[in-house]
Amino acid sequence: MQFVTTLLPCLIEAVDKSIEANAEQVTALDQAIGDGDHVINLQRGIKALAAQSGELAQLDWPKAWQKIGMTMMMTVGGASGSLFGTLFIAMSKAAQSAGFVSGADQVLNLEGFANIFSDGVEAVKHRGKSDVGEKTMLDVLIPVAASLRKDAVDTIGLAEVLANVAMVAIRGMESTKAMLATKGRASFLEERSLGHIDAGAKTSQLIICALVSVLEDRLTAPS
Ligand code: ADP
Ligand code: MG
Repeated sequence: MQFVTTLLPCLIEAVDKSIEANAEQVTALDQAIGDGDHVINLQRGIKALAAQSGELAQLDWPKAWQKIGMTMMMTVGGASGSLFGTLFIAMSKAAQSAGFVSGADQVLNLEGFANIFSDGVEAVKHRGKSDVGEKTMLDVLIPVAASLRKDAVDTIGLAEVLANVAMVAIRGMESTKAMLATKGRASFLEERSLGHIDAGAKTSQLIICALVSVLEDRLTAPS
């Protein structure tokens, strides 16, 4: 399997379906400790990406991530819109500075992707002035970035890398339940934020697991 942008329509469709299927659950989470709009915000962004997916598939990775980031920024809104937007725009910048330029080699390798994704996550930390343990999407994104970097060095097979990513994403999402929110709207609730999973951590996990499933299917599909 080659990791190329022509996979994007399929990846976006899988994310759309997963968020749709879990929309009620995520809304209930965001109603418990936020203002309940997280899924609607995110779905607006995903629909906008679905409408652009043919165009995205023609771009190289830096241009595609830039466009995805801008679309998320402009359509999602809320705290999550600027944070998800920042993730993709920073990934685009990292890919460009790593010499991953337009028209050149469009196929991503694991080590390259692990570094690019990690730079994206660093930018989210900076933008949100937050870190792991604060009951946000970063409790999923940070461990996933670390898992990718570790597995790139250990050079295990892609199937195992993907399985690890899904496992770490689920564990990170679940870890937010016992955390006290110190960032975002949920922090206003102080101790009352305990005992609820963070909505942004849940959608980040769902997105990552949807992407992993598509890639796993491609790995096992006869070529
Ligand atoms: P809003 O809180 O503005 O209504 P959303 O409901 O779309 O925005 O998104 C809320 C999610 O954004 C939270 O569940 C959390 O995961 C994430 N979030 C909020 N603030 C921060 C922050 N400072 N750093 C990282 N993630 C954050
Ligand atoms: Mg909200």
